Amino acid sequence: MEFEKKRRLMVENQIIRRSVSDERVISAMLKVPRHLFVEEAMWESAYGDFPLPIGDGQTISQPYMVAVMTEKLEMDKASWVLEIGTGSGYQTAILAEVCERVFTIERIGILEKKARIRLEELGYTNIAFKIGDGTLGWSESAPFNGILITAGSPKVPELLFSQLKEGGRMVIPIGNSFSQILTVVRKKDGKKIEEPCFGCTFVPLIGREGWEEG
Ligand code: SAM
Repeated sequence: MEFEKKRRLMVENQIIRRSVSDERVISAMLKVPRHLFVEEAMWESAYGDFPLPIGDGQTISQPYMVAVMTEKLEMDKASWVLEIGTGSGYQTAILAEVCERVFTIERIGILEKKARIRLEELGYTNIAFKIGDGTLGWSESAPFNGILITAGSPKVPELLFSQLKEGGRMVIPIGNSFSQILTVVRKKDGKKIEEPCFGCTFVPLIGREGWEEG
């Protein structure tokens, strides 16, 4: 089956059927060629309802998870977003479709390099990349309208929260290193308003305000 058709079925069966309704998120998921973000040997599985390995023990997230996290950020075409955990760059591409600018940080150099090359080849010009510990944020470009963390964290990283605009939203899996609760954190009068959504499983966020390596 051709990839465009697989993509349409993915969006209908995994995303719209599970109540993601933001038209801009749906258009982005229909447009971005997910298979190009995994090794060629996995192209046929790229539109399945599961995460896939991308090397170095890391994963590209399940399509539904990418869609629902993007929807919960509630960004618009003027928004600036910080993403922690570039991974394959797939979620980064979806954000680049719905936001004005995306700042993305990955701690593993080889993953960052592969993602950057892919996204440049696909023609994205509104993404800035950094290698390092994303729990320290990106102070030079802060504050952000939204912050998306694509790895499981023990808590809301304070430095990241300080780089969120008043009224902004953070979407973050919070829990232990095996299972977490996807949580939306809003900044209201400088304070955190936390809304737990549902259970999820992400690789650990490793860094100064995450888990220790090892
Ligand atoms: N969104 C990605 C995608 O679409 O492919 C999936 C990301 S994967 C589930 C989580 C990523 O977070 C991994 O690539 C991991 O190396 C990265 N990561 C973990 N801790 C990090 C940190 N402190 N700073 C930056 N990246 C981190």
